[in-house]
Amino acid sequence: MSKVKRVYTFGNKQAEGKADMKNLLGGKGANLAEMNLIGVPVPPGFTITTEVCTEYNQLGKEKVIELIRDEVEKAIVNVERLMKSKFGDSENPCLVSVRSGARASMPGMMDTILNLGLNDEVVEGLAKKTGNPRFAWDSYRRFIQMYGDVVMGLKPESKEAQDPFEEIIDEVKAEKGVENDTDLTRDDLKELVSRFKSAVKEQTGQDFPTDAWEQLWGAVAAVFDSWNNPRADYYRKLNNIPEEWGTAVNVQAMVFGNMGDTSGTGVAFTRDAATGENLFNGEYLINAQGEDVVAGIRTPRQITKEGSERWAVLAQVSEEKRLADYPSLEEQMPEIYRELFDTQRKLETHYRDMQDLEFTIQEGKLWLLQTRNGKRTGASMVKIAIDLLEEGMIDEETALLRIEPNKLDELLHPVFDMEAIQQARVLAKGLPASPGAATGQIVFFADEAEEWVGTGKQVVLVRVETSPEDLRGMNVAKGILTARGGMTSHAAVVARGMGKCCVSGAGKLKIDYKARTMTVDGQVFKEGDWISLNGSTGEVYEGKIATMDPSLSGDFGKLMDLADKHTRMSVRTNADTPKDSKVARNFGARGIGLCRTEHMFFEGDRITAMREMILAADEKGRRKALEKLLPIQREDFEGIFEAMHDLPVTIRLLDPPLHEFVPHEEENQQEMARDMGITVEEIRAKVEELHEFNPMLGHRGCRLGITYPEISEMQARAIIEAALNLKKKGIRTLPEIMIPLIGTHQEFKIQEDIIRNTAEKVFEERGDRIEYLVGTMIEIPRAALTADKIAERAEFFSFGTNDLTQMGFGYSRDDSGKFLPVYINKGILKYDPFQVLDQEGIGQLVEMGTKKGRSTRPDLKVGICGEHGGEPSSVEFCHRVGMNYVSCSPYRVPIARIAAAQAAIKDKQ
Ligand code: ADP
Ligand code: MG
Ligand code: MG
Repeated sequence: MSKVKRVYTFGNKQAEGKADMKNLLGGKGANLAEMNLIGVPVPPGFTITTEVCTEYNQLGKEKVIELIRDEVEKAIVNVERLMKSKFGDSENPCLVSVRSGARASMPGMMDTILNLGLNDEVVEGLAKKTGNPRFAWDSYRRFIQMYGDVVMGLKPESKEAQDPFEEIIDEVKAEKGVENDTDLTRDDLKELVSRFKSAVKEQTGQDFPTDAWEQLWGAVAAVFDSWNNPRADYYRKLNNIPEEWGTAVNVQAMVFGNMGDTSGTGVAFTRDAATGENLFNGEYLINAQGEDVVAGIRTPRQITKEGSERWAVLAQVSEEKRLADYPSLEEQMPEIYRELFDTQRKLETHYRDMQDLEFTIQEGKLWLLQTRNGKRTGASMVKIAIDLLEEGMIDEETALLRIEPNKLDELLHPVFDMEAIQQARVLAKGLPASPGAATGQIVFFADEAEEWVGTGKQVVLVRVETSPEDLRGMNVAKGILTARGGMTSHAAVVARGMGKCCVSGAGKLKIDYKARTMTVDGQVFKEGDWISLNGSTGEVYEGKIATMDPSLSGDFGKLMDLADKHTRMSVRTNADTPKDSKVARNFGARGIGLCRTEHMFFEGDRITAMREMILAADEKGRRKALEKLLPIQREDFEGIFEAMHDLPVTIRLLDPPLHEFVPHEEENQQEMARDMGITVEEIRAKVEELHEFNPMLGHRGCRLGITYPEISEMQARAIIEAALNLKKKGIRTLPEIMIPLIGTHQEFKIQEDIIRNTAEKVFEERGDRIEYLVGTMIEIPRAALTADKIAERAEFFSFGTNDLTQMGFGYSRDDSGKFLPVYINKGILKYDPFQVLDQEGIGQLVEMGTKKGRSTRPDLKVGICGEHGGEPSSVEFCHRVGMNYVSCSPYRVPIARIAAAQAAIKDKQ
């Protein structure tokens, strides 16, 4: 047996791993290896696999160190050889970074430590070796800061409190009377190191470790631990990343962006992550390291000249000041810029997707530290997919598979009403970090954003800058506003990933966390005040602003056409009104898969007629009341048929139990008695009579039509008459009459007979006919089990997976809120089965129902109309079992169309 390989090395254009080994090496590790293989300059290092993370969680730190010690020691020797220096040596030291990196990128969620290998002696050696003591001490203080936080756990004491290290930095800066970190001298930095170490000792009771190997093992363990920190855990849940995956650890020789004016660090995107525009862009800082650019501590500069000029306009910086204080990399270091430009082209062409890269310049030499497929907004996702297709970089199938269906949702979100926005007052301008329109009440803390939203409020999260700790608050806020940070700041990147409106770096804002105020030009805004953000322009407005529906771009249309070209299933919509029908049709719905009729009994004075029917003593009385409802229903159907002309419309007969139509409160009962001229007692008696212990399993669905056939008769008549009326006007209709809650084929037969007899009667009366189908909803497990018999007569099936899930699991949907979250937390269920179809269990009922139905009637039309019809993984399942269509709410139609096309493509591959 060959030994398990746990460590993969890379460096000097060679690597043991490659890009498609993400599962084992994590995204970062796999791409570091791949960049070596394609000749991009990357500092040498090695990756400890994600499998070791799993072992770590089972065996603990000590045992795992023993498992990997040999391989790690050898890998370090390899790094030393390539760097011509020695790890832990005080004359010629080799420093490393220790970086997390999961399969799926989780930016900033886990921990990274830089400059590892330093202590009081090594720092002197580094100073001597480089001839740059300031740099050596700057690196040392950064190391203590990161290690002290991540490994030793020295963190802010409360949410209002400052980071303890930043507090010390501010202290020293104040004492020395300097403003920027870069103005601190070597002696100041030395002072910082000493105060940092005292703080660590004081608060953790531990000495700062001086041995390089001890430091390394501590850091490796901390990175493994960070896989389970609360923010990583939350991010995983948000993005459906399995807990079992684990993170890899990358150990890599340091290159230094903090060596002076010919050094720097930056972040870049090969295309615009917000809009998708094919424009190289990014930010950098001179004499800086690691996360300085994204942390929002200094104002970053733009990489390209064009980007810099655009930024200056937004930031209201004059051209003179821009050139003096914020020149682009293109202007400042033209040669490096050229090389970076060529490298980003090379990487995009290699990966055939927009790349998000991290680089460092050490004394005029460029190094790449990371590349990955960049996070992007929904709009950018669509544009980039279509552009790459048109540029011939990818084929149609790949373009479609690049779309995350759920992200299309963002494109359908409201934008500001043009007129309202012209009346509004602009308070400040920041950077357009993530597009969209947001209106909400100001909150300053992430946990409070969650609380406020929990009580039904809508909020804008306002922060000096955001950190990964703020994720939950960002997720629930309508928008995010920060005073500091650029287009690549944490807030900006995360917001774009979430498709959330964000304005970053609005420098005019003075935010006081303790007082919970935001001050702009002397005007004070308190927690709870309303503001609005335009994430596409960077404008911040006072007050609430009205919104409207967005218009969709040409690329969106192209994408949808492409989806239709590759799909097999069609997508219908669940719609009960002409308005919804039109919206859905505009989004490409090919008919209605579920038109519920109950609301037709509720609105306005219809409820009175309905109640009359319910209270009637006998069939004659009921028929009289139903007479009143007939013309109203007919008119409703005409409206819907007209909106969906030439496309099928599935109408479900009345489903809910009758008690839902009578009032249960004393007050309303009295009002009803007055209206109907009867006594309250009569009403109360009826309500009592209708009372059920389990209404969901009670007198509803076809059971109503069986006990009161005249209801089904009236509805069938309304449908057929409406269709005939439209035919007269030259409008073609395709009604599909659907009988709900069938459990036995006898139920179906009884209802079908009523419908067909009624239709024949109407055809005779009118001397004209139309085509129509009669089918059923499959939502009771017994119906799925006996589908072959039901299909003897039913012309179509529509799986009502809401009820099928409810009855298959035996979970009351309305009560499941009490236990489902616990089930999901404990891992008993992966998802809420009312949102994501349970393919393992309920899916069997769907598959069996379809097969059995088609065994009797090979051309049986089959669809789904539960909530699952708009959920991508469930849509894929529907494709696999051979459904003809899925049906979902109007705004999810585009999502389902993409999911259906993706299912067809994956099926072929
Ligand atoms: P994240 O996963 O949060 O992006 P990274 O592991 O990429 O964290 O590290 C953050 C930053 O630290 C990188 O962007 C890079 O600038 C810097 N960094 C990491 N390793 C090195 C290294 N070996 N040399 C120089 N800078 C490094
Ligand atoms: Mg990174
Ligand atoms: Mg149902």
